[in-house]
Amino acid sequence: MPARGAAVAVLAACFIFNMLGRGLADTYAVFLLPLEREFGWSRSELTGVYSVYLLVSGFTAPLVGLLFDRFGGEVDSLLASPVEELRPLLLGTHGVGPETADSILLYAAGYPVFVVDAYTRRVFSRLGLVRGNEPYDELQRFFMTRLPRDPALYNDYHAQIVRLGKDICRPQPRCADCPLAVVCPRRGV
Ligand code: SF4
Repeated sequence: MPARGAAVAVLAACFIFNMLGRGLADTYAVFLLPLEREFGWSRSELTGVYSVYLLVSGFTAPLVGLLFDRFGGEVDSLLASPVEELRPLLLGTHGVGPETADSILLYAAGYPVFVVDAYTRRVFSRLGLVRGNEPYDELQRFFMTRLPRDPALYNDYHAQIVRLGKDICRPQPRCADCPLAVVCPRRGV
């Protein structure tokens, strides 16, 4: 198990990162996934830390209401709900949009649900694979009909999209440093 101090430090970093305007999925991809890769934290340890983060974040207060109203305050019970029941419940919670709901389903509950965010729209529209202004569900289907239904793959895939969109395929892209330049019709935009 990670030391309690390390978990607290990671939670603090998550809050700061989120205060800087990053979404839940980015917080997970940028801060928590490296812990698995670099420090050998298990997926269940990551999920535990992320679940705490989700539940104590101020903007998730309505989620806490859902947790107590429908699941008796048991996080394990909420996360163990079938995805086809849990997703509508999350989407029906005030302030929870599809990106947040799917971040919870993928990162906290471990369901094979692809998360679409602004980085995904920017990178894949520049690659010429999507328009970029499609509705969320349409973009999600684009990925989920082409990738195996594997939560570990979706985790890693999204983490790489975040890294590319944050560091290279920025609003002003650094195409000279991009590993996808050879296949990208918009290189040099
Ligand atoms: S080549 Fe440029 S525009 Fe294309 S994906 Fe890379 S950074 Fe983005």
